[in-house]
Amino acid sequence: MIGCPCQVCHSSDERDKRMRQSIYLTTKQHRHILVDTSPDMRSQFLRSNLTKLDFCFITHDHADHLHGIDDVRPFCFGPPSKDIDIVIFEAHRQILETRFSYIFQRQKIFNEKNPYLGGGLPLLNLHIISPGTQTLYGEQFTLFELPHGHGITMGIYHEGMAYVVDCQEIPPAAMTILKGNTNVLIIDCLQRAPHQTHLNVTKAFEYIREIAPKRAYLTHMNHDLSHVDFTKMAKDQFGASVTPACDMQQVLY
Ligand SMILES: [Zn+2]
Ligand SMILES: [Zn+2]
Repeated sequence: MIGCPCQVCHSSDERDKRMRQSIYLTTKQHRHILVDTSPDMRSQFLRSNLTKLDFCFITHDHADHLHGIDDVRPFCFGPPSKDIDIVIFEAHRQILETRFSYIFQRQKIFNEKNPYLGGGLPLLNLHIISPGTQTLYGEQFTLFELPHGHGITMGIYHEGMAYVVDCQEIPPAAMTILKGNTNVLIIDCLQRAPHQTHLNVTKAFEYIREIAPKRAYLTHMNHDLSHVDFTKMAKDQFGASVTPACDMQQVLY
């Protein structure tokens, strides 16, 4: 955190340098999918040398998961130029359309009198979907709702991998999808103390026990705990099957 004097914020351990939350999926069918366009997206892509993108999910409309969206534009340039779909729940449409009107309402804003100059506009289209199991671009996903403060977050299940971030609980409908079906669980785990909009360590550990995945990765941590301390805390309870995730980590599922 900017200006924070704590030990984690000044740690020399690379695993304590936590950029904003997102994941990038490379599927067996060679699809390349980004989940969330964080304000760190540009730096994350540049340092990972990732050059491909077929579409994006946006889990919810909070700034830390969304505000890097303009940096998707190099993937649209081509040649040939291509539009990229942004897959969201209906609940998040209005905020995306108003906050990024130059992207999602570009047909209204730019016209013959006021043409867009320069050619650098991100060519993104909203693809609204409902919760449930569906095939998207040849891949089967099960999407579910997670409560997050006053709003909801999209939970994502794909071929044994479940991505559960930004939620203060996992409701029964989502647990039915996850329990017994999850090999790799990537789960919200903000800090030790309870939090109004996120899972804390106690709640995340309870859900991991109930879902019983083969492996679980804790994510979306703040600076409450270092990677080393988090690792120890998880190991004491679960052995090596539960670990904190870190930036640039690659996970097979
Ligand atoms: Zn959030
Ligand atoms: Zn978040």
